[in-house]
Amino acid sequence: MYRLQNPGRTAGKTNGISTRYRGRFAPSPTGPLHLGSLYTALASFLDARAQGGQWLVRIDDLDTPRNVQGADQAILDTLRCFGLEWDETPIRQSRRLDRYQEALNRLKQQNLLFPCLCSRKGLARLDLPDGLYPGFCRDRNFPEAKPHALRLRALPTALAFLDRHCGPQCYQAGRDFGDLIVKRRDHIIAYTLAVVIDDHDSGITDIVRGGDLLAETGKHLYLDNLLGFQPARYLHLPILTDAKGAKLSKQTFADAVDPSQPSRVLYRLLQCLNQAPPQELAAQAKPQTVLDWAIQHWRPEQLSGQTAIRAL
Ligand code: GLU
Repeated sequence: MYRLQNPGRTAGKTNGISTRYRGRFAPSPTGPLHLGSLYTALASFLDARAQGGQWLVRIDDLDTPRNVQGADQAILDTLRCFGLEWDETPIRQSRRLDRYQEALNRLKQQNLLFPCLCSRKGLARLDLPDGLYPGFCRDRNFPEAKPHALRLRALPTALAFLDRHCGPQCYQAGRDFGDLIVKRRDHIIAYTLAVVIDDHDSGITDIVRGGDLLAETGKHLYLDNLLGFQPARYLHLPILTDAKGAKLSKQTFADAVDPSQPSRVLYRLLQCLNQAPPQELAAQAKPQTVLDWAIQHWRPEQLSGQTAIRAL
């Protein structure tokens, strides 16, 4: 089976009804917003607004052990402070557990799930190619009462899509990724499952996110396929790194963004996005002025061709 997912669940006309562009930013509340996340938020915001579309924020708070109390509100406050105003009340994944369970039940009915007892450490010791599960528990029978994760069978399926920045991408389920964990042993729903369901249910047409998630997209398309969802259109951004070339992330202790000079920060990020902002924008009193310019001049085709760029 070969599926070219392009252009997908895109803004345009479906059955004569106009579907407007709907984009989203989906932070995990594991700490304050850092420059790398603000860069992603800004690009997805500009892409949506430049097309007259809606822009939503979703709080990806399923990984409860990693959540930091108050981080969700702090992230929303920071976005506001930079003028990144969203439409609609933000959805919280932690309120949607019944919906994820419903999808799991559907996948189970299709005989696509199996309980897995393998520990992450045990698999890591085998030094398997990235993400490829060797199928130890796939056809094993054991009492479901034992603590287990739930895995989704990776049936050989070719998946392809046209990324708006990175170009044509092809993946093969079973070769590029193995049987996927969809529910962890600690009962936490995996990001891969939740993101696909949420983007579909929220009618997201366009996803603009960090290039580090490019390789995850094959898994998302696979799930879209099994759940009967039209995939969104994707644009994966060059990864923003620090001076040493490491991705800016909470794991690398990237600093929280300084909201005291929002226009200056936005100007820097527009430079990172290769949008050639005029220098005077940096000194604007209101971030809204910078954003108005950026929406009008948003040119995603100008994004750097490099996969990683240094924060200035
Ligand atoms: N919560 C995910 C993250 O912060 C969202 C990724 C995505 O945009 O799909 O990495």
